Order: sequence, then structure tokens, then C-alpha cells
Amino acid sequence: MKGRAPGVRIVTEALVLRSVDFGESDRIVHLLTRSGGRLTAMAKGARRSTKRFPGTLDFFNHLKAHLQVRGGQAMARLEQAVLVSSFEALRVDPSRFALAVYLLELLDRLAPERLPRADAERLFAFAGGALQAIARGRPGRRLQILLELRTLAAVGLRPELRSCVRCGRPVEGGTVAFHVPEGGCLCAACGLRAEGALTLHLGTLRALDQALQLGLDRLERLALGEVAEREGALLVRRFQRFHTGLELRSEPVVDRLLAARPPG
Ligand SMILES: [Zn+2]
Repeated sequence: MKGRAPGVRIVTEALVLRSVDFGESDRIVHLLTRSGGRLTAMAKGARRSTKRFPGTLDFFNHLKAHLQVRGGQAMARLEQAVLVSSFEALRVDPSRFALAVYLLELLDRLAPERLPRADAERLFAFAGGALQAIARGRPGRRLQILLELRTLAAVGLRPELRSCVRCGRPVEGGTVAFHVPEGGCLCAACGLRAEGALTLHLGTLRALDQALQLGLDRLERLALGEVAEREGALLVRRFQRFHTGLELRSEPVVDRLLAARPPG
């Protein structure tokens, strides 16, 4: 094997974001690793070897993964995986299942690869905390909005909800303009010269801003009135669509299951 870059063996905790069969007996898994962010790995013989991968490669699963990573190769090799937790509570309830699938799809498409350790640990802790919040809760539209917002923030897409994105002044007043392409709210003066901004109540921005600060285990208890829920759904979804440019396969399912009406 002359000329091949030397491999590095890594043992890390990981969440399975996606898992697809490959060829006769292999599987390709998309992992969110605690040591370095998102990583794609080939699990050779995964569908035959119950010894190396005993029921571990389903999505949501929290693993201890033994990986072989080779410089210059896009795909790592998953040598072995031990199940830490399978988040059983997510699999027995359609609303929890749909919301968890939706957040994992967002992470699978947006989480960066080769993250520095501290950033990877933070993102991994976020993902685990979000799955736990769903597993413990009774997900409805409110939790969907708040966790979608938090997931976007966790991958670096955080809307500005306090200060004007053009001039930096704090926003005030009963209603406020939110400019999706510019990524945040506008003060009254700047809002006059902005076309296509959403008009929202200040209370909605305050509630969403609070959701960005809270511990994940407390999100479900955050009060969100009917107006804030409707406006929040609109803001978060428009922001997500514009800044990610993604068509998420699980979006229609989660919207149908969790929302009376799908957000704009
Ligand atoms: Zn301004």
C-alpha cells in the first residue's frame, strides 16, 4: 500500500444522523462525533457482523465508535461500534419520532466537518440535549419552532433578535421589522427603507431570544402565546429556508404531525 497516507485511529462518542445500506453487506453512516463534528464512515460488513455492530447503526443511536480516519480520504472507516443509548422514547411516539428525524436531518445537512474539539463537543452536547428534550417532552409546534431555532444557532446560523442588523441600535416599539436575508431585526428608522421585511411583535422576538438562552431541558416550559407561536414559526422557517437553501425531506411530515397549519 505504498503512497497511502497513514490512518489515525479514533475512539469517540457519536450520534448516528443517517444510515444507508451500501452494496451487499456494508452500510454508510453519517455520524456527529464528539471529537470532530460530522463525519461519514463506511461500516464494512455491517449487515453481516452482529459482533462488531450489534444493532448499533440505526439513526438516533448514541455510540462509542472506533474509527479509522485516513488523510485525503473523504470517508472514514467504522471498525466497531458499541451502543451507549438508543433513545427508545423517540421510537414509540410519532410526534417525537418526526421531530427528532427533522432535527437530525438539519444537523446532517448543516453540521460542519473537522471541527475543533471544543466546538465539536459543544455541538455534540447540543444534539444529545435536544434529543433528550424531545424524548422527555410532548412535542408540539412550539417545541418544534424553538428546537429548530436552537439547531440553526448551534450550527452558526443565529438570527439577530435584539439589535438592528444595519445600525446596531436596540430595537423597540410594538411591532418590529425582521429582514430574513439580512438575518435579523431592524430598528424603526432602518425598517422604513427595507423592502420585504416581516413585521412581527417585539414580544415574539423577546420570546425567541429567551429561547436562545435557556437550557434545553427548560425549553418546553417557555411560554409562547398564540401570536408569538404563529410569528415565531414564520420567522424561523423563512430564516431556515433562506439561509440553508435546503429542501428537507422530513419537513412535510413534521409539519403535518406537529402543526395545525404548516408555517408559511
Ligand atoms: Zn437601524
